[in-house]
Amino acid sequence: MAESVFLAELSWPQFKSKVAQNVPIFLPLGATEQHGPHMALNVDVVLPTAVCERVARNVGGLVAPTIPYGYKSQPRSGGGEAFPGTTSLDASTFSLVVRDIIRSLGNDGIRRLVVLNGHFENTWPGVEGVDLGIRELRRDGVSDMQVMRLEYWDFVQRSTLDRLFPEGFPGTELEHASLLETSLMLVLRPDLVDMKQIPNDGPAKFPTYDRYPVPEGFVPASGVLARAERASAEKGEWLMRDHVELITNAVRAEFGL
Ligand code: ZN
Ligand code: MN
Repeated sequence: MAESVFLAELSWPQFKSKVAQNVPIFLPLGATEQHGPHMALNVDVVLPTAVCERVARNVGGLVAPTIPYGYKSQPRSGGGEAFPGTTSLDASTFSLVVRDIIRSLGNDGIRRLVVLNGHFENTWPGVEGVDLGIRELRRDGVSDMQVMRLEYWDFVQRSTLDRLFPEGFPGTELEHASLLETSLMLVLRPDLVDMKQIPNDGPAKFPTYDRYPVPEGFVPASGVLARAERASAEKGEWLMRDHVELITNAVRAEFGL
């Protein structure tokens, strides 16, 4: 059996020997969520998994199976729950899934974990899951589990954002299914992108508050919140390089690798 960077592709003895080497484990947090008419529903699974795969190779780590469902899509950051195909968990369910995985890895002997988020709405339920996981492990007598938790999109150089958005960066929330995610998908899974389907009903003009229930016309009908038409694989390569390099540096620094 070949040595894989993906935890689930190892046998249990292979995994056990990795644990003995104290390798860092990467847990990608994904979602199944609409990403406009031009991309597949699994963008928030593909992107964090790919970043984890590359960083794990750089630091000799392993990638645990990506959580494929996330906390509920919000209108102002993901278009909302009304889009067909968007399939989400309650916050408490999501947090408990993260908690249980951390507890299980900790009880296996894992002591270095990187929780890498790929879906905006997972942020605080993910934080909760990490907190509960660490608390449970402490009660199980494991007090030396070290966790890094991060959003991959924060790891980008200012100069890269300036090159991507000469007219100014609209902000990560509004970038849903737009230039950044589309460019990264063109690098990783061009077969799941149809540039001819990119809509032009954005950018969304949201107030600085939410409305429940979501009023008619609150979200662009396409589900794309900013502009995607200038996406390209070249831009995706710039982003990917930043994400992988900067996260690799951070993991090495924190874990002394
Ligand atoms: Zn996304
Ligand atoms: Mn998302």
